[in-house]
Amino acid sequence: MPVLSVENLRVGFNYAEGYGNAVDDVSFSLAANECLGIVGESGCGKSVTALSILRLVQEPPGKIAGGRIFFEGEDILAMDHESLRKIRGGKIAMIFQDPMTALNPVFTIGSQIAEAVAIHTNLSRAQTRERAVEMLQKVGMPDPEQKANEYPHQLSGGMRQRAMIAMALANGPSVLIADEPTTALDVTIQAQILDLIEGLKAKSDMSVILITHDLGVVAKYAQKVAVMYAGKIVEYCSVSSIFANPMHPYTVGLMESIPAMRNIKGGGRLREIPGIVPPLYAMPAGCRFNPRCPRVMDICKLKEPPLVTTSADHLAACHLHPEIKSAG
Ligand code: SF4
Repeated sequence: MPVLSVENLRVGFNYAEGYGNAVDDVSFSLAANECLGIVGESGCGKSVTALSILRLVQEPPGKIAGGRIFFEGEDILAMDHESLRKIRGGKIAMIFQDPMTALNPVFTIGSQIAEAVAIHTNLSRAQTRERAVEMLQKVGMPDPEQKANEYPHQLSGGMRQRAMIAMALANGPSVLIADEPTTALDVTIQAQILDLIEGLKAKSDMSVILITHDLGVVAKYAQKVAVMYAGKIVEYCSVSSIFANPMHPYTVGLMESIPAMRNIKGGGRLREIPGIVPPLYAMPAGCRFNPRCPRVMDICKLKEPPLVTTSADHLAACHLHPEIKSAG
């Protein structure tokens, strides 16, 4: 029984240039204590998928246009405001790319964490403050008592990210959504933060959705992966399967752009995927990756490939695979 399952999610955006689906028929599930990596370039729909899980997509210009998101047997998209409030920051928590925009600059980090606890518990003021310091200690903040009294601008980028993780985990969520949690940090701090999330996940039986543009991060921290391109999942399988046998040319392109992978496979120049992700309102006909695909065929420009099972627990959406041709 998955902790969370997303079924046929569709999220549209209305811009002056036209309407388009940032997330289009996306389905995946998350098991207890599992880490699912959602990977793809900017503009592929990863963050919109994450925001949709907590119904945080800004309306307008966005709108969740279809699908269902089940958490503990209930459809989040059909919940009333009160039920949703209990889940947000309680059972499902989120950490963002840039802690400076997520933390309030005019309150100390201790008071912000205490406030997050107070919303979901009946603890006294002193107890919520105690919990805040305890959480700062858990995430490896040096001198947590003192740091609880400091404002976000007084902390380094790595410390701010730790403070945000402390706030997200303060209510013991079952699911943590980490949206590019280390993009703004240098590599040493990146590894520390990701190791920290992994350690806390193992200790608390939490499940994690890790959103990243970096397949190297997925290789190290996730058990399952969904590769997104232009609003669609184009490949979905276990991490071991994707690295052993990538089925979609976009996934192969992402792999070839990881320095460590090039080294593993004997060095050589890093490749880039030519072109950019198309805008939402101007998706190409057929396979959305066709203008950038090195293996494009005539059918790719006419017909959109469905996401089908290509081998045990490995799904891909590409006309190169005979299973897709036979699926019609
Ligand atoms: Fe490339 Fe065609 Fe596969 Fe799309 S369907 S990824 S264009 S080969």
